[in-house]
Amino acid sequence: MKNIYLDYAATAPCDPEVLKAMEPYFFERFGNASSLHAFGQEAKKALEDSREQTAEFLGAKPEEIIFTSGGSESDNHVIFGVSEALAAKGNHIITSSIEHHAILEPCKALEKKGFKVTYVGVDKEGLVSPDAIKQAITDKTILISVMQANNEIGTIQPIAQIGKIAKEKGIYFHTDAVQTVGHIPVNVDDLNVDLLSLSAHKFYGPKGVGALYVRKGTRISRFLYGGDQERGRRASTSNISGIAGLGKAIDLCAKTMDKEAKLLISLRDKLIKEIPVKIPEVRLNGHPTQRLPNNVNFSIKYIEGESMLLSLDMLGLALSTGSACTSSSLEPSHVLLAIGLDHATAHGSLRITTGRWTKESDIQYLLENLPKVAEKLRAMSPLYEKK
Ligand SMILES: *Cc1c(COP(=O)(O)O)cnc(C)c1O
Repeated sequence: MKNIYLDYAATAPCDPEVLKAMEPYFFERFGNASSLHAFGQEAKKALEDSREQTAEFLGAKPEEIIFTSGGSESDNHVIFGVSEALAAKGNHIITSSIEHHAILEPCKALEKKGFKVTYVGVDKEGLVSPDAIKQAITDKTILISVMQANNEIGTIQPIAQIGKIAKEKGIYFHTDAVQTVGHIPVNVDDLNVDLLSLSAHKFYGPKGVGALYVRKGTRISRFLYGGDQERGRRASTSNISGIAGLGKAIDLCAKTMDKEAKLLISLRDKLIKEIPVKIPEVRLNGHPTQRLPNNVNFSIKYIEGESMLLSLDMLGLALSTGSACTSSSLEPSHVLLAIGLDHATAHGSLRITTGRWTKESDIQYLLENLPKVAEKLRAMSPLYEKK
């Protein structure tokens, strides 16, 4: 039985080298990084080494890195922390309609408290227009947050351009870079960002650990109160094993990502080229070229994403869909609706995301089996008439 994982955007396996780097911090070097004795100092060293590795990847300074419990916490910290710190200055936030829920839900929570949030739309390929961001700015705008790349459709945004606009207006700019860090170069100065979120499990590190980059001088309130870890910016005993894993993972990525991206782009472009040849009436979602090296997203018309996933799962293929029948709502993904898909087309979406251990033969296997699955399901679909 095959067992092929093509869902790297949801989470990636932890690299065995990362695991090895983490292991000493569970028993031999279990210390609390805040303790003054030798055990504590050993832990503290691991913490600061990882901070340097993370800063190095981003072109930042170590003291600008706050370790968190993951992408969701980093995103929440930005929305709640900046809105609180700058409440006297304004109550308006600009974001995009295709952000991760870790941005959208905190924004909704702020709206209930009287904040104003503008959700800037995207074009058919999922691009946010820097001009639309500019138009949305008011004298009450305190924060702009636009993700660097979308987790569903893979579109990479013109972050540097948006950042330039924010900088000119003196408005803080945050990017959720959870899908890009470790996969493509991400430099905080080139991108003109003041705040940036990342998460280890999306780049072959462990789950439950991430970081928030905060440019020196940026005003942001605390999110988690308690002890004064992370220079008083985030409470809780440092997750040393996780943080050591994050550092190792980001360091490995820095060394391998250019080569890896080239390989993944060739697999991506093979899928983008061959799926429409093998299956009639499909639509590529996301930008044809300005997209993550490892992301392919197609809507396969007249079929339902969930039934496709189940059929593929039986063939040993693990993929994802933007059809939300798995969750409590029947609404398809907000991202697919934002790029203008009707509900039926959105429900037929299939996301293929590859990574470090994807083989050419895995893609070949998918290309052999996906058309068969689509044909079988379409034969049962009352909406489909064979052309
Ligand atoms: C996965 C993801 C998150 C959430 O990160 P966690 O570490 O799982 O909390 C946030 N934003 C994007 C774009 C993601 O892909």
